[in-house]
Amino acid sequence: MTLKNIVALTFVFSVHLTVFAQQPQKPNASEIYHNLQDLNFLGSALYVAAHPDDENTRLISYLANDVHARTAYLSLTRGDGGQNLMGPEIRELLGVIRTQELVAARKTDGGQQLFTRANDFGYSKHPDETLAIWNKDEVLSDVVRAIRKFKPDIIVNRFNHRNPGSTHGHHTSSAMLSFEAFDLVGDASKYPETAKEYGIWKPQRLFFNTSWWFYGSQEKFAKADKSKLVSVETGNYYPSLGLSNGEIASLSRSMHKSQGFGSTGTRGNQTEYLEFLKGDFPKDNTDVFSGINTNWTRIDGGEAIGNILNPLAENFNFKDPSAMIPQLLQAYELLKQSKDNHWRSIKLPALQQLILDCGGIYLEAVASTESINPKASYKVSIEAINRSTQPVVLQNITDKYGNKISEGILTLAPNEKQEIEGTITTTATAPSSPYWLNEKGTLGMYAAPKNLIGLPETPAPEKVLFTIQIGRAQMEVTRDVVYKYNDPVDGEVYKPFHVLPEATASIAEKVIIFADQNPKQIPVFVRSGKNRINGTVQLNAPKGWKVSPANQTFTLERSGETTTVYFTVTPPEDQSEGLLRPLIQIGDRYFDQELVTIDYDHIPFQSVLMPSEAKVSRLNIVKKGQNIGYIEGAGDAIPESLTQIGYTVTTIAPSAINTTDLSNYDAIVVGIRAYNTVPELAFTQTALNKYVENGGTLILQYNTSRRLVTEDLAPYPLKLSRDRVTDEFSQVKILASNHKILNSPNKITQADFENWVQERGLYFPNEWSKEFTPILSMKDKGSPQLKGALLVADYGKGHYIYTGLSFFRELPAGVPGAYRLFANLVSLGN
Ligand SMILES: [Zn+2]
Repeated sequence: MTLKNIVALTFVFSVHLTVFAQQPQKPNASEIYHNLQDLNFLGSALYVAAHPDDENTRLISYLANDVHARTAYLSLTRGDGGQNLMGPEIRELLGVIRTQELVAARKTDGGQQLFTRANDFGYSKHPDETLAIWNKDEVLSDVVRAIRKFKPDIIVNRFNHRNPGSTHGHHTSSAMLSFEAFDLVGDASKYPETAKEYGIWKPQRLFFNTSWWFYGSQEKFAKADKSKLVSVETGNYYPSLGLSNGEIASLSRSMHKSQGFGSTGTRGNQTEYLEFLKGDFPKDNTDVFSGINTNWTRIDGGEAIGNILNPLAENFNFKDPSAMIPQLLQAYELLKQSKDNHWRSIKLPALQQLILDCGGIYLEAVASTESINPKASYKVSIEAINRSTQPVVLQNITDKYGNKISEGILTLAPNEKQEIEGTITTTATAPSSPYWLNEKGTLGMYAAPKNLIGLPETPAPEKVLFTIQIGRAQMEVTRDVVYKYNDPVDGEVYKPFHVLPEATASIAEKVIIFADQNPKQIPVFVRSGKNRINGTVQLNAPKGWKVSPANQTFTLERSGETTTVYFTVTPPEDQSEGLLRPLIQIGDRYFDQELVTIDYDHIPFQSVLMPSEAKVSRLNIVKKGQNIGYIEGAGDAIPESLTQIGYTVTTIAPSAINTTDLSNYDAIVVGIRAYNTVPELAFTQTALNKYVENGGTLILQYNTSRRLVTEDLAPYPLKLSRDRVTDEFSQVKILASNHKILNSPNKITQADFENWVQERGLYFPNEWSKEFTPILSMKDKGSPQLKGALLVADYGKGHYIYTGLSFFRELPAGVPGAYRLFANLVSLGN
């Protein structure tokens, strides 16, 4: 992977660009100047959309860096439903990655990141469906909470709230909820709990971040009435950063690596349009904040603060920022006394950090180990240094529980490093995993403790508090406890410091298929989270399943070490499915979680605790034939799934299709989107049709209707469309009940369409020649009945099958009916 190079590039510029959450900020004089400009702007903007990567980073970067507004992106979901172009993580784990990609994007463009508890459950055609699966009231309450807490002057919706059904239902829902929340946040009787906690709020105006695209064409947009539009120039150059806004936007966009959103920076003018929806229309239609006081005079006692800080920005001392510390301290003392709680709580820590940055005052607390167990003690090394000539005294160091780490007062003489060793005992009783995965939620909603709702990630479990005196001002500085080590190649590497359980267990295969009653040996990996542990593991199985032995013992010497124990699992005689769950016992304590680690260069190392389990499925399945050829497409697990039920699968290289003797294969399966991604398939259809003509069975899975390498993908005319059925519970009607494909070797009934996951299928053909027999019919609520999910045609002595049914999702999920139907597909010629 070459992500390293990309990340390395971003380090060249580091205004907000310390990509890893744990890595300390070390701003240079230009960046401190930029931060001072931010400090002197008292206005906030909230951008609202549905998914990680929906956000317009150009506008967010413009608001944060050009306007200097406090800017946040509220993404309703964490993007679990997307695909992962980097690695194997999907669903919750992909949501963890995309959460961190958003955090990294905001660190790049200077914004902040917020979420709701809504879960990205997959594609939805209409906001009605979305809001029925999400708990609409809870998501709305989270949007209200975000606005009351963040207190934006302006809110910008990414999507149009007025055209339900024209885009992803999550998108329209995000705009509809924002539109509704705009009026609710000022009413204390609505969601009174957050009104009490954060106060009510009145945003000044709501916009929709439109573009010519929403008007159909650039010509139509040129002619459109623009009296309700605000236009802003988002292509400005920032000399103090050496970058254009468009370049920062691309660096930010490029953090969405799991989505393949690497983006090349642009320079030069670029206008963004905002359609005014509600509130007060700005007097100046090129300034989203016009008419809103964004100076220090906005707050109680602010005028005197502005009188100090504004001249400092105008005459910024780039040669020696520390020379400004006395004035900054004056402002600090005044700000401490401001009665404006909201702005004080935001500006005081920002000013404090600015003072430290000006003096090169560096404070850090590093744990001696990467992780600890609940209630454990650990060693911490503290570094404190003042690299200015200003008088700085370190008065006190405590852990977050108030226990002293240092004894006595330390003077931080210019450029003389102080190192202090201490021990901290954590009171944490629970591990520090992504908080929204700790408790089981629903299909549409995550569960989250109230105090964490909206936060992008779980706060660091441990902190150290420094009381320092600079001049005559005293301040409390908080630092997360971090872990770092020296890597022989990368040098100093920071990692999050975690609280983790003493032991975890996992089963590598998440779905294990039993096509007959033969037992299988199941390996269980045990990982130690502590030095010197021993205990037992048992493997709990569903009713009717047998496991032997009853338990296995293990001993592990070092934290992080793993061992494997084996169990023999025998399925029942009849169809049955359920979960295998390893359970570790150490003394009188039990551990039932799996530790999943996620390690990519562009986001911090992630330790995620999940319930330790694997699905087992005993199928009543009959199969015919043995040798299956497989032509790889965009990637699916069909070979592994067919192997699990006893087939021999051979991958056929696309370049070898024309020269291989295909007649040895009982069936050939083509991977998903192969006709979109494999250029060679433009020249192989004759050979594949010949194979069918001679008695073979060819099965094509879904391809997208656009950008096909050839339109010629069947022996008869067939036209792909964007028709899809996203409701996995939708009723399936059988059109050709007597067709062999539904009767042999497995009799397919309604029961076989139960417990499907995520969707029925996608990109169904919508036109086909009379040689094809449509086998099934299905539809989403409010959509027409679709008959193109499974089409079969005889050709010569063989069979051609085109199916948009999402076998690529169902088989890895262990859905019995999908296996039985797929077995019939590959058995059709035998
Ligand atoms: Zn989206």
